[in-house]
Amino acid sequence: GPCIALRGVRKRYPMGGESVLALDGVDLDVAPHDYVAVTGPSGSGKSTVMSILACLDTPSSGSYLLNGRDIARLDAGELATIRNREIGLVFQNFNLLPRASALENVMLPLVYRGVRHGERSRRALAVLEQVGLAHRADHLPSQLSRGQRQRVAIARALCSEPSVLLADEPTGNLDSASAAAVMALFDDLHAQGHTVVVVTHEAEIARRCRRIVTLRDGRIVGDVLAAAAPPPC
Ligand code: ADP
Ligand code: ADP
Repeated sequence: GPCIALRGVRKRYPMGGESVLALDGVDLDVAPHDYVAVTGPSGSGKSTVMSILACLDTPSSGSYLLNGRDIARLDAGELATIRNREIGLVFQNFNLLPRASALENVMLPLVYRGVRHGERSRRALAVLEQVGLAHRADHLPSQLSRGQRQRVAIARALCSEPSVLLADEPTGNLDSASAAAVMALFDDLHAQGHTVVVVTHEAEIARRCRRIVTLRDGRIVGDVLAAAAPPPC
């Protein structure tokens, strides 16, 4: 079955006495090994979908099955456990600890999982190697380019062997060369069998994925293979 299945997902945010309907009945399946862009204009619901997929928030109604388990009604603690086990998160701002080396940043999720020190550094070094940054293991984030910082963040996401890699505007703070390198890395990870979901408002970035899901006003209005998508304007 799909590793992600959203069914009739609605999300309402309170706004003063009123409320905003950010998602209005979203159905989305992501199969294992797929490579999906979620795109759409500002305000279309991308961040809301992202936070639900990432188990950072829950739908107001509808269901979310992650690897077959309905997580829509779990409490915050249970959600955090699922998130740490199942989801590898990549952010626009990298979210690296500034005083920790690249290696230490990558190892951190394994500390919470109780992996022993020797095993942690072995695995962290292996994923840094995978993103082409083993030679920067001892560098602080400030000593790395932005593109390198994002690759460290991707290594950190990979380190706990998540079932889904979820990236939120991963190229939003990168120049176009570093953005292309980061997308090339996602291409590689997809080719290696990882399930990758990239949320982006940039058409050019979305086209790098296999499949493009387009949101508008909280609904899915397009779901096409990237090869069939119109060229970005
Ligand atoms: P996108 O990421 O595509 O810009 P969002 O998911 O951030 O879209 O927003 C979808 C809609 O929900 C917008 O109308 C936005 O103003 C509203 N919204 C998002 N987050 C909140 C919030 N925390 N409180 C109130 N409204 C919100
Ligand atoms: P950046 O473009 O972020 O500044 P670097 O200059 O650190 O990257 O790249 C160091 C070396 O690693 C270069 O030779 C580059 O081609 C290579 N490299 C970049 N990305 C990868 C990757 N995903 N896997 C293997 N090698 C890579």
